[in-house]
Amino acid sequence: MFTGLFYNHQVAKAIPVNIQVLPEGLLLRIAAADGNGRPIHWLYTALEAELVDRNFIRITDTGDNPGTLEVNNADFVKLFLQFHKPSPTTRLHQLVQRGGLKWSLGIMLILIALALLGNFILLPWWADIAAEKLPHSIDKQLGEMARSNMNEPVDTAASRLLTAFAAQMQWDTEDTLTFTVVSKDIKNAYALPDGYIVVYTGLLKKLKTPEQLAALLSHEVAHVSCRHSVRTLCRNMSSMLIVNLLFSGGGTAVNQLYANAASLNNLRYSRQNEAEADIVGLATLRHNHVNQEGMLSLMQTLQKLDPQNQNLEFISTHPLTDSRVRYIKKEIAANQATFTLQPTMDTIFQQLKNRAMK
Ligand SMILES: [Zn+2]
Repeated sequence: MFTGLFYNHQVAKAIPVNIQVLPEGLLLRIAAADGNGRPIHWLYTALEAELVDRNFIRITDTGDNPGTLEVNNADFVKLFLQFHKPSPTTRLHQLVQRGGLKWSLGIMLILIALALLGNFILLPWWADIAAEKLPHSIDKQLGEMARSNMNEPVDTAASRLLTAFAAQMQWDTEDTLTFTVVSKDIKNAYALPDGYIVVYTGLLKKLKTPEQLAALLSHEVAHVSCRHSVRTLCRNMSSMLIVNLLFSGGGTAVNQLYANAASLNNLRYSRQNEAEADIVGLATLRHNHVNQEGMLSLMQTLQKLDPQNQNLEFISTHPLTDSRVRYIKKEIAANQATFTLQPTMDTIFQQLKNRAMK
């Protein structure tokens, strides 16, 4: 039997009570002079507990017998907490209360460390595995979803030329590729996960050789065949997921997927993805006997563009650094290959250029 002070929410007077701890709840008896006070039954399920410290607890019933009970007794607190199952947030709050400031700071630091670890090491790894498990039909759906949100002025004649140019090359991918020219003065290109590849007129104007165009297309097709969009979406989603779990209890991650899918043409790939697209792109050039130097000169041409124009897909994640040029040079040196440019590619390239310059 324990004793405590009871407040019945009607009079601001503390009433001394005897307390019995039962498996399903508490039995309170108002300590009347004759010892036979009126019993009050409180069920644990209707109780909210506020642990003030390890000795002192404040329990409130919001059910049929409203009131607040204060007990200053470590044994009672221990026994009560064995029966009463608080909500997770209350539990954390209690842990913090019980452990004091030092513990709460410690717990906070551990949570932050876990979040960082998860975000930078485990989640990207998990996201890549998740992306691999996703069926290829997802890529198609995402691409179609992204395209339904776009309304860009397609240059049909130029698109036909670009398709003819691309048809001169063999693409090592199962995806159905669609090559499109959009007549806008933007120095950019992008690839959607369903194999829809767009080059803007603004960028075509800047290209100097057919090898550069072949390199650009090879880089974009590599983004499709390596499923970089799906990987990036999984990665973005997994970061969102952990942030949500920590701070809001989940829920908006799915919205995030749709928000991201709607802007797939602006998706920021990671440095690793860009490097992979460069390396895979170089292999495509070799297989097609196109001079790999086209990739290098493409980088150098892009480097000279207006530094204000940082939205370019090619350089979005990292402004063209010497390191990128360096690994491309290294890759070319390590994989020397013979090359002969097909005259047809040169002819089509010139037609495309003439059209873009109009
Ligand atoms: Zn890229």
